Amino acid sequence: MAVIGSMKGVVLAACLVAGPLQAQDLTVLEASRIHTMDPSRPLAKAMAFDAQGRIVALGSVNDLHARYPGAKRLDAGDSIVVPGLIDAHGHIGNLGLSLMRARLDGTRSRAEIVERLRQHAAVLSDGDWLLGRGWDQNDWPDQAFPTVADLDEAFPDRPVWLTRVDGHAGWANSAALRQVERDLAGAWQPDGGRIERDAGGVPSGVFIDSAMDLVEAAIPPMDGDTAERALALGMRSAVEHGLTGVHDAGVSMAQIGAYQRLADRGELPLRIYALADGDQEAFAWLCREGLYSHPAGRLQMRAMKLYVDGALGSRGAALHADYHDDPGNRGLLLIQPDALEGVLKRARDCDVQVATHAIGDRGNRLVLDAYAGTWGDSSGHGHRWRIEHAQVVSPEDLPRFARQHVIASMQPTHATSDMPWAEARLGPERIVGSYAWRTLRDHGARLALGSDFPVESVDPRLGLFAAATRTDAGGQPLGGWRPHEKLTAFEALRGFTLDAAYAGFAETETGSLEAGKRADFVLLAEDPMAIAPEGLRSLTVQATYVEGRPVYERPRD
Ligand SMILES: [Zn+2]
Repeated sequence: MAVIGSMKGVVLAACLVAGPLQAQDLTVLEASRIHTMDPSRPLAKAMAFDAQGRIVALGSVNDLHARYPGAKRLDAGDSIVVPGLIDAHGHIGNLGLSLMRARLDGTRSRAEIVERLRQHAAVLSDGDWLLGRGWDQNDWPDQAFPTVADLDEAFPDRPVWLTRVDGHAGWANSAALRQVERDLAGAWQPDGGRIERDAGGVPSGVFIDSAMDLVEAAIPPMDGDTAERALALGMRSAVEHGLTGVHDAGVSMAQIGAYQRLADRGELPLRIYALADGDQEAFAWLCREGLYSHPAGRLQMRAMKLYVDGALGSRGAALHADYHDDPGNRGLLLIQPDALEGVLKRARDCDVQVATHAIGDRGNRLVLDAYAGTWGDSSGHGHRWRIEHAQVVSPEDLPRFARQHVIASMQPTHATSDMPWAEARLGPERIVGSYAWRTLRDHGARLALGSDFPVESVDPRLGLFAAATRTDAGGQPLGGWRPHEKLTAFEALRGFTLDAAYAGFAETETGSLEAGKRADFVLLAEDPMAIAPEGLRSLTVQATYVEGRPVYERPRD
């Protein structure tokens, strides 16, 4: 359709040819610069979209106003527009719960934690569990695991359960342990987990990986209203940070139900690509019912999330050789290879995408081998199977991601959070294939970037900053940690847009600003591609738009 003139007859004639495109239904956005992430037109000044939030055209301001003279104007002034950011690995429910729970991140001692918990407990009823998350013993003077005794004096009767910053360990008090059904006495350990015990064999309060289930089974289940409230809080926080999409990495059937109710009421402010949590109900449902898409278009499920090992911080990541700082410990496998292969074959036969958490080099190889066993080693299939985190990879395994078409779903802030102690865990040799974004990308692998919130902050600016600088907030270490693995700002943005969309089978709808795609975009005060990378963490998110409508606007100060 060339030109829609201002004369009524011409507009009508155009509509007969091109369908129900009325100029008054169109909006033309003008901005200082629009970064499209579309290689065929990387920059534009104006973008037209229809009332359904579909992009109709991009171009110059004059061009679009000439083509759509009756369109509404949305003048973004000096703002910079980028495609809506997509976090390829987050946990909306946990983010919402963490906003409802005591927040312990950044605490410098056990005493500071007890103080925060006392404040939080003031709003709870008698008998409520006091839940918190975010502690990290690496931030304390002695760097030793905490114990029940650290909590019992302040909370002799109220059960307390505090998950570690990585979500792979929990810390209980004695009142919580009294509610655990299973007898914890003796020297036994659960498969895929560890109960920390004192010299006398008594549980000392910390439970690692699958051992956490022993305590969590005693927590009264969340009701439907609480689940919806948690998701709504989490999604609100996401759009306030410029996210227009999140891959929710592991949801239960109950959570899917809560998402569906919110979607029915039109209360999803952004797109959710839900991954079924493990080989459970939600996966069975996907296999039975087929890939799921809510009619309103913002909720999709066609993937499942598996775990092969634990995390590096709690020494649960599965390594080929002993932890450098813990001889005799090679981490934990959470699933045996034959069991993994069985689940993968079922997923393949149901056309379900698989995303497997793998952090250690042994964990990553096991998953690459199992994917190869399912698809063949050099599969050219569009399976888009993913490895979540892919943190510590044997250098000889790095090229396999590209060769096997496995998406590396990585979180730049994990590297900058782990860099103070990662080498102590791994030693100087294994660090070579760790957090190796640049090497993976140069081999031809696709990087879908995310944050793993609430393990890390939901704020994607921190991910862009970490990816492009590999320093902490204070710019340390100077020049970046293992700086040859840095990404450029453009590559980082691509990981949070187009490649994240691809990892969720959504690149024909989102991830870049092109005619035919959704008008999901963010207005920024600064240009992320023009400023020094150090400035990425303080970009100003002015507004977040999903399908052409604002879902967040920064309050004017
Ligand atoms: Zn995660």
